[in-house]
Amino acid sequence: MSYAVISDVHSNLHALNAVLFDIRTRGIDEIYFVGDAVGYGPQPDTCIEALKSNCNILLAGNHDWAVIGYTSIQYFNEYARRAVIWTQENISSESFEDLEKFMIAKTLKEKDALLVHSTPKDPEMWHYLFTLSDAEKNFNYFKEKICFIGHSHSPIIIERNDSGEILVYAYSVEFKNERQYIINVGSVGQPRDGDPRASYAVLNDESVEIVRVEYDIKKTQEEMEAADLPRMLIDRLSYGR
Ligand code: ZN
Repeated sequence: MSYAVISDVHSNLHALNAVLFDIRTRGIDEIYFVGDAVGYGPQPDTCIEALKSNCNILLAGNHDWAVIGYTSIQYFNEYARRAVIWTQENISSESFEDLEKFMIAKTLKEKDALLVHSTPKDPEMWHYLFTLSDAEKNFNYFKEKICFIGHSHSPIIIERNDSGEILVYAYSVEFKNERQYIINVGSVGQPRDGDPRASYAVLNDESVEIVRVEYDIKKTQEEMEAADLPRMLIDRLSYGR
């Protein structure tokens, strides 16, 4: 059975709708969301609504927890902090309560997979998994075959073989026996790998593929302008940086 894993929507409804449409055209019906529904973008309520009605699992990210006061914004950069405050001022109380229910980690027994937003080692500490040595360390903190993450907004597939060797793939891989995988599915609403298209992952028992989807970036940018969100956050969507 195939399924999709999506992450880092960041209140970008047009990106989310494009991804959900793409998922539907592939006949996939299970969708797992690994965090950061809100922050940065202009449509927190509609994104939470769409995630609730389309996803089988909903995880929290650091921006979601910051908005509801579970994570301090003192380590956020200026733009992220302004976007969190904007979200707190503009989100409905129903959405606020929804965010409180998002989980921090979830094991999928039948898929032999773990879902977290940041790292399997300390999911609620919001560390980044940037380097191969970060990956090496984190492979020791889950026993499932696959750990899905988001958070860095850069998609990547990392494989560890039975002798502990690490291999990296950009787009897709066929799963092999006796190997483990950390899969960063990239960001739906604010990609940072130089490709401005929305990113997510499609899986079945045998393989994973990172999928990129075009969406109406201009529309999101216009809404961000109207909401008076920081210019830097508006511009970066054009470049995927
Ligand atoms: Zn994020």
